[in-house]
Amino acid sequence: MSEVPGDASEHGGPSLSPSRAADFMTCPLLYRFRVIDRLPEPPSPAAARGTLVHAVLERLFDEPASGRTPAAARTLLAPQWERLATAEPRMHELFGDDAERLAWLDEAARMLDRYFTLEDPSRIEPSHREMSVRALLASGLTLRGYIDRLDIAPTGEIRIVDYKTGTAPREEYEARALFQMKFYAVVLWRTLGTVPRLLQLIYLGNGEIVRYSPDEADLLATERKINALWQAIARAQASGDWRPHQSKLCDWCSYQALCPVFGGTPPPLPTMEGPVPTLPESPEPPHPATEATAV
Ligand code: SF4
Repeated sequence: MSEVPGDASEHGGPSLSPSRAADFMTCPLLYRFRVIDRLPEPPSPAAARGTLVHAVLERLFDEPASGRTPAAARTLLAPQWERLATAEPRMHELFGDDAERLAWLDEAARMLDRYFTLEDPSRIEPSHREMSVRALLASGLTLRGYIDRLDIAPTGEIRIVDYKTGTAPREEYEARALFQMKFYAVVLWRTLGTVPRLLQLIYLGNGEIVRYSPDEADLLATERKINALWQAIARAQASGDWRPHQSKLCDWCSYQALCPVFGGTPPPLPTMEGPVPTLPESPEPPHPATEATAV
């Protein structure tokens, strides 16, 4: 999914997802390539495995509680792979031969086994899975995205759960991982009027869980950060200055050949129709937000 500056959201204004926000924080040029130029990226085995494992975990909860076993999860792998490969035939290009594909599937199966060492899904009844969320901030910016799983306790306490097929980040990158979860917490807070009790990142690459309990001050700070980020994006679009930011994450960037840091030349900026999106200079949202969209 991509969000475009000036992209007509349901409310007719700009919108932002946590992935694209993270792109801009990583590197404004990366954001430009993905959102403004919309340059396609080749599928990667790691990203495809993430999609597959997410699909299996989503469907695992269709089973009755007693049927949510490691064997059931493994049984879901092959049909979900077929479904994804039918929807995206380029997935077949990821593997040189069947042995490679089977090794890749085996790693996905090990991640699913690891999931069961971290949670007992027979004791969980998710309220929502792959939930589309959206909230309009007082600044005029719409936040949107998908939450892997939302658990709501009988007492009304909310837990946001996100599955990661990588390994838990080192401490210095943990805040970055939590930003996505806080972003979703802001959306739910502004939508439901309740601060989620727990944000839970489940790392299936190494079998770790990161938990965080936000408070209202946290979410206000996150909302301010998101609005400031959007202002920076709008400024970059107005000026055309999408400067690259070199970091370790460049190793995973699909666009190195077009990046000046690596000797490349970005293509000319596409002509954008319509006015450059703007935000108030100092957005300070009132409480609660002026509008909350049902999720
Ligand atoms: S290679 Fe690095 S600096 Fe260049 S666009 Fe990608 S992330 Fe940005």
